[in-house]
Amino acid sequence: MHSSSSFKSPSPERLTRFVHAIHASLDPLQIAQIALTFFQELFPSAALALYRSDPARRVLRLLAAYPETDAHAAQCAPLVFSYDESSLMARTFREHAPLLVTDLSDPGLVMAAPLETCFRDESTRGCICVPLWCGPSFEGCLLATFPTCLPITEGLAHLLRDCTLHLATALYTAHLHEAVEEEHTRQRAVLEQLPEGIVITEAVSGSISYANSVAAQILGMRLHDLIGSTLHVSTQASTPLSDPLWPRVPWTFAVIRALGGEAVNQLEAVVIRANGARIPVLCSATPLRGGQGQVTGAILVFQDITTQKNLEAQKNLFFSFASHELRTPLTAIMGYAEVLQQVTTGEYAGQLDLEMVHLASQHISVQTEQMAYLLDEMLDLSHLDQKQLALRLIPVDLLDIARHVMESLATTTHRHQLHLVLDRWDSKAAGTQVMVVADRVHLARILNNLIQNAIKYSPEGGNVEVGIERHPSSSTHALFWVKDHGLGIAQSDLPHLFTKFYRAPSLDSAISGLGIGLYLIKQLIELQAGQVWVESTEGQGSTFFLSLPLMSDPKSNGIAPPSAMQQKISRRGR
Ligand code: ADP
Repeated sequence: MHSSSSFKSPSPERLTRFVHAIHASLDPLQIAQIALTFFQELFPSAALALYRSDPARRVLRLLAAYPETDAHAAQCAPLVFSYDESSLMARTFREHAPLLVTDLSDPGLVMAAPLETCFRDESTRGCICVPLWCGPSFEGCLLATFPTCLPITEGLAHLLRDCTLHLATALYTAHLHEAVEEEHTRQRAVLEQLPEGIVITEAVSGSISYANSVAAQILGMRLHDLIGSTLHVSTQASTPLSDPLWPRVPWTFAVIRALGGEAVNQLEAVVIRANGARIPVLCSATPLRGGQGQVTGAILVFQDITTQKNLEAQKNLFFSFASHELRTPLTAIMGYAEVLQQVTTGEYAGQLDLEMVHLASQHISVQTEQMAYLLDEMLDLSHLDQKQLALRLIPVDLLDIARHVMESLATTTHRHQLHLVLDRWDSKAAGTQVMVVADRVHLARILNNLIQNAIKYSPEGGNVEVGIERHPSSSTHALFWVKDHGLGIAQSDLPHLFTKFYRAPSLDSAISGLGIGLYLIKQLIELQAGQVWVESTEGQGSTFFLSLPLMSDPKSNGIAPPSAMQQKISRRGR
């Protein structure tokens, strides 16, 4: 019954090499291949398969088979077995012990059906299935089928038990390693998704062992250059800045303090990139500690706060401009009020000069209007920011509003001539109206603001053209424009004009303003389904355009793209 050619006892050196090799690897597939090579040397005539457990799904999956190229083995070795099936492998798992069939031709043996269908062919005479347990952890099964009756001696049983125990331990270690790696990968994926930059610095070497791509982006470095670099390499001397709002402490200070055992919370610091650019950042850093509480490294979380800093600077500037803008009319009002007091109750009482009284009260009324106008703008700004601005969209006559605004502004200047142009409208017809859907109060303020700007930014005076016509490229919209021949706008300023608090840097400081008018216009016009844009040449003048939905059109929300509008208008040579 025995066939001595079925089993070859390994030399002690070969055994040692096998044990070392499987423990040296953390790759389950490599471990399986080493094991199958070894077992194939023990049982040259056997077909072998190593299955690995998947405890979460309670299945065994084929890891490797020998002979690999054997079509029969490839076809017959099923890829997955459930723990709960009646297969030989599931049984070894449940019974916690190897199962062996010494002679399949023995009619007294009842075989498990899956073995018969899956692994057995006419030449199969015996088989053995060994569960791979490492303590309480089930790692898989080793299955061998033989074309001969299985010779099981005590020595072979011992050898199999020892070798499969090593195999189970090696697979268990690989399993743990995989789990740790998987956890690492997950954590890194989370860190990679964060909007903040993350940098981990090692205490011993002072080198950066981990950084996410946001950190690299803020520091202006390539990720692979950043990881592995030492902290002092990334530190640059910080020269004092003129802007008192800008932080001066280098970002590395937060890391150095954390490496010293201190937790750093919300420290404003500066990153100085290789090209000299300064990026203000908000840093929090915390020490990483080893088992004995010693600091092994530091983790830094930081974010780019350029936008906040710019806004803060602009806000400060705005408040200083705003108080100046409000103070000017206030001073005038106080002056005229004093005049009125003197001519009514003061030393000039009794010499009442009606013309002077009229003049003073007129000035007071103009200045009060100016103050009210400024306050309204500030109120709109705050309502817009809080998304609380309510517009009352009704049909209004754009032409009528424009005429009113022009009439009142014409009285404020002697050096400018305001002209109304009604190109394609039947302006001769009595009672011409251009009905648009808009908020009357805000529309009047928008037109007022654009015409006032045209006057303000043409200090030499000149013609200011106010135009209204059907939109050349959209039958649903009216077009309004204000054209001046004043200072014009530099090409580099054009993209920023409609940004909150923006004022052209080259502007003469004598021309006062808050830098919120155009921002408000853009927001308000868009809320009214319109568009605003500008064309300008520095030194020659500017034209600001508005498009507004006409009342008559049922699709008053359909706006032609501004680029198309602008192209069309440019072609017409405005
Ligand atoms: P303000 O006039 O109070 O500064 P605006 O928001 O109305 O604020 O305008 C923003 C900036 O756009 C101005 O500071 C100026 O630089 C530029 N600007 C606006 N209108 C004109 C114009 N007609 N000509 C030249 N520059 C203009």
